Amino acid sequence: MSEIILHTEQLTKRFSRRILAVDGMDLEVPKGQVFGLLGPNGSGKTTTLGMILGVVSKTKGSYSWFGQGEDYRLRKKIGAILEQPNFYPFLSARQNIMVHSQIKDIRKPDTDGLLKLVGLYERADDPFKTYSLGMKQRLAIASAMLADPEVLIFDEPTNGLDPQGIAEIRKLILDIRDMDKTIILASHLLDEVQKVCSHFAVLRKGKKIYSGSVADALKDTNTVSVASDNTVLLVQTVSSCPGIVSVERVGDLLKMQIADDWSVADINKYLVEHHVPVNYLQQKNTSLEEKFLEILKENENMVSPAQSRVS
Ligand code: ATP
Repeated sequence: MSEIILHTEQLTKRFSRRILAVDGMDLEVPKGQVFGLLGPNGSGKTTTLGMILGVVSKTKGSYSWFGQGEDYRLRKKIGAILEQPNFYPFLSARQNIMVHSQIKDIRKPDTDGLLKLVGLYERADDPFKTYSLGMKQRLAIASAMLADPEVLIFDEPTNGLDPQGIAEIRKLILDIRDMDKTIILASHLLDEVQKVCSHFAVLRKGKKIYSGSVADALKDTNTVSVASDNTVLLVQTVSSCPGIVSVERVGDLLKMQIADDWSVADINKYLVEHHVPVNYLQQKNTSLEEKFLEILKENENMVSPAQSRVS
């Protein structure tokens, strides 16, 4: 089993009587994952990151880095960007990196290597103030990488960037993952989590309401829609097909959820072998957005009885 990089247990932050920002958060992040905290604004992502980095005091619960607890010295193995770090506008990327390495007491920083990694090598000697927002963010990532940390933490890494800037940062995060790093990021963008993360947890009003791998979240809802000139035969055949988990009828169309070990081709073959004249067959790769809405809906269902008791 892979090493557990971060473990939190019932981690809780109450800012005031009214504001319970994080409510009993249990998380586990094994080495090598790109772990996304996904949730709308105000769901407690930044507060969670603040607590595990020791910059926000926790109200209750615990966290442990590398199985060694909360010791602040473990922070050396973690590179984080919670907000845009301070860079001197008139100094170049190279000079700013040197300043940051002095502050962090890193004697021999691999400045060239880092600037190449984040794609700023060509512009390394231009003043910071001439950089685009995306370049500034990439310099912040270079600074977070200075001590060659084992873990990188990003809070909304692509906020405010244009599509090209977003694509560059996402590629950079995946390049960093390939350097055998573990990455924890907070995002309110489903698309981002789907494209970048291997695993994710959904946060809602400070609570974790779902966690799992992105692949599983998408696989679970792998559906195929089928129509036939002989709907009666189609319904009969589908009901006896072991590769179909559930069926919903929408007009003449049957929407079916496929078993994990069956493919759409298998379904098609099964129907053909059972002489069903298929005139329409479409696979639907559910986006994480649909899955996310489903998770929220399920969760809504879970809370509704309590709500109805209150009302
Ligand atoms: P966003 O992406 O908007 O920052 P988030 O998911 O990161 O959202 P948090 O910033 O962690 O959420 O906020 C969670 C809740 O805690 C919100 O209701 C927020 O208003 C509240 N909160 C955050 N920081 C403080 C603070 N310093 N004092 C009081 N309340 C706070």
